[in-house]
Amino acid sequence: MKIIMLGAPGAGKGTHAKGIVDKYKIPTISTGDIFRQNIKEGTELGKKAKSYMDAGDLVPDELVCDLVVDRLQKDDCKNGYILDGFPRTIPQAEALTEALKKQGTAIDYALEIAMEDQAIVDRMAGRRVCAKCGATFHAVNIPPKVEGVCDNCGGELELRDDDKPETVKKRLNVYHEQTAPLIEYYKKQGIHHAVDGTLGVEGVAKAISEILG
Ligand code: AMP
Repeated sequence: MKIIMLGAPGAGKGTHAKGIVDKYKIPTISTGDIFRQNIKEGTELGKKAKSYMDAGDLVPDELVCDLVVDRLQKDDCKNGYILDGFPRTIPQAEALTEALKKQGTAIDYALEIAMEDQAIVDRMAGRRVCAKCGATFHAVNIPPKVEGVCDNCGGELELRDDDKPETVKKRLNVYHEQTAPLIEYYKKQGIHHAVDGTLGVEGVAKAISEILG
């Protein structure tokens, strides 16, 4: 099963990708996580990506597409995968469609978690990420057992630089301009499904299960 998670930053793509991973045993490929890992390790890719990310802009397509296409060749992707945060532009979507076509495959589901901007701004202000393992929590919706501490690894929870309110607004504008057109793109392919992102973690998970079966 090959799935793309669509939706604005903060709509819950990462959270729900994790639920799908647990149920269907396929890996999640998060381009945002790959970039953050590269920044942490100080790689060339990380250095190039950081300035774009901190400004709330997208990293240029040429730094993203080959990286994802290469990653999809790995053994763990044999039975499928979830793409979280990719594609984010029409050229990225076209590059993905073409790369898969060459292998005789295609994406099965483009799952959109739909949410209004204001609800997202409110939600992102409460989001906290583990500095060590990348697990995501939320002050209200997914609170850690101990405030400020990761349930999984004991790492310190922090507000991501790009979750700061002014950057969130910028990222939402970028989403509407560059990423939202993907909804139409995947509707045309007949694989778009939308879920109401305000249903809460369990409600969204249930709606996704009903779509994926
Ligand atoms: P995310 O964790 O998916 O919200 O991604 C964080 C940031 O990484 C984004 O705001 C972009 O700057 C960058 N990024 C992640 N995925 C992509 C992508 N597919 N194309 C361009 N930039 C990306």
